[in-house]
Amino acid sequence: MRFSQCYIPTLKETPAEAEVISHKLLLRAGMVRKLTSGMYTYLPLGLRVLEKISKVIREEMAVAGYQEVLMPMVQPADLWKESGRWEHYGKELLRFRDRNDREYCLGPTHEEVITDLVRGELKSYRQLPVRLFQIQTKFRDEIRPRFGLMRGREFVMKDGYSFDANAVGAEKSYWECHAAYKRIFRRLGLRFRPVEADSGSIGGNFSHEFMVLADAGEDTIAFCHDCDYAANVERAEVRYQASETKGEYTCPSMERVATPGAHTVEEVSAMLGVPAAAVVKTMLFVVDGKPVAVLVRGDREVNDVKLKNVCNAQEVHLADGDTVMALTHAPVGFAGPIGLAIPVYADNELREGVDYVTGANAQDSHCMHVDLNRDAAVTAWADLRMITAQDACPRCGGHLELTRGIEVGHVFMLGCKYSDAMHATFLDENGREQTMIMGCYGIGVSRVAAAAIEQNHDEQGIVFPPAIAPADCVLLNLDPRNDVVNAMVEDLYGSLRHMGVEVLLDDREERPGVKFKDADLLGIPMQLVVGGKSLARGVVECKDRRSGQKGELPVDNLPASFSAWAERVRAGWEAQQA
Ligand code: ATP
Ligand code: MG
Repeated sequence: MRFSQCYIPTLKETPAEAEVISHKLLLRAGMVRKLTSGMYTYLPLGLRVLEKISKVIREEMAVAGYQEVLMPMVQPADLWKESGRWEHYGKELLRFRDRNDREYCLGPTHEEVITDLVRGELKSYRQLPVRLFQIQTKFRDEIRPRFGLMRGREFVMKDGYSFDANAVGAEKSYWECHAAYKRIFRRLGLRFRPVEADSGSIGGNFSHEFMVLADAGEDTIAFCHDCDYAANVERAEVRYQASETKGEYTCPSMERVATPGAHTVEEVSAMLGVPAAAVVKTMLFVVDGKPVAVLVRGDREVNDVKLKNVCNAQEVHLADGDTVMALTHAPVGFAGPIGLAIPVYADNELREGVDYVTGANAQDSHCMHVDLNRDAAVTAWADLRMITAQDACPRCGGHLELTRGIEVGHVFMLGCKYSDAMHATFLDENGREQTMIMGCYGIGVSRVAAAAIEQNHDEQGIVFPPAIAPADCVLLNLDPRNDVVNAMVEDLYGSLRHMGVEVLLDDREERPGVKFKDADLLGIPMQLVVGGKSLARGVVECKDRRSGQKGELPVDNLPASFSAWAERVRAGWEAQQA
């Protein structure tokens, strides 16, 4: 690749629209351009990055026995009606009609299409398992597309699906894909963790997310320092331990007190002189269209994924102000469990605790000395709060740490959810009809590109892991008007390519400063610099983009010294990843 002939529109200034570093650098490095909200064009170098990621994915999926297909992006509504998702998927599903007034959607994922594909063809247990995947553009009309490629509306996904005849086989398909994902993210040079993820109605440990560790991550993961437990905080269960201090304490009678203007836990605890942990936070949610109240300690946060699972619901959201007013006769901030005519779910931690402050369901007032067992009607006790770094590891009781992660992959045991609804059946050894057991496995290909940059960058620009970089080496010609330098550069360009090295040759008529800046910005792992002065000394300069380490390679033995240096650069990456 010759820079002068490539479309690489680098920018000096950071575009104002970009919030996170990967978005800023992808724009500045001329790798992507925005078309409209959540939709991007991949420029030549950006597309090369996607292709590098896809190549590693393809190789490892093949090792795990997954074959590549390509399904249409437009999907008929009928299939979604059959699975039941036409109703449940909500506004992320972009729906439209064709000229014959038939309904369609743009595929946000392909469970329906793939189930439809195999159900007519696979009739016998002898044909199973079948493992397929594709790499394709998805569309999700995200409510808040942001952070560039991290959360787009149109994005590139690898989605894989497995069909098995029995549970043992399905688990094998699942874990073989899980292992392939570990190899993929390792080869891509990322620091990542597979974590237990919410598996909703399926239950068990059959969902893992692959998280790239980076501060810009929208997810929080909890992991243990004393065992290998790691989970998305959405899922991480809080160990309930009955307290030993309760003893014989009897709560005084409940008392209503005025708390003018105090509607946050902080305001209430300051006004009444009690710690936040002695205040009960009552949050009203709408669960599948019906209101419920959720109680957690004042210093805790409600985990709405747990609430959804406890209620076995499809959809959960916070109640709006009008709903709160209708249910509690007060604005937001004064709700309490006493006398509420809706189901009340309370977090385990409040189980035996007495003497709490709660809202009084009246403006500007709260109740003190509330014993939840005595004064309130709790429908159910459950684990409903977010785990914290102070909680014990749910598996071993050890020390937990919370950190941010970017979800780049997700493996999920689907069971018979789609195969039941869509009648994907086969005949077993005994000629009996059985339902296929499915798994689905996603990787956000375009999100991986952004996550790699979030994890690997510096003040000067991108620092691509070698497997993802748009080229292995950038070759800077500092003096394109000098015939000796030109001849050397051309010679070097040819021999590196001959060795199988992917080279971006910066042959532009630009000042050296501009070339150095762009080389750093693009993040290509190895830089070779050819200029008149160094050439006179019989050397070319080299720089490892990651470590910044500079050196010189002798001109007369270039192929060998380049290979040795490339090996050191690679080893540096591996040491950093370990
Ligand atoms: P998220 O929780 O981030 O919205 P998801 O759970 O909806 O993701 P999946 O349905 O599991 O995502 O999709 C598989 C993979 O596709 C994800 O692990 C992620 O890497 C990627 N992905 C999902 N949504 C987007 C998006 N809007 N933009 C880019 N990549 C995405
Ligand atoms: Mg997910």
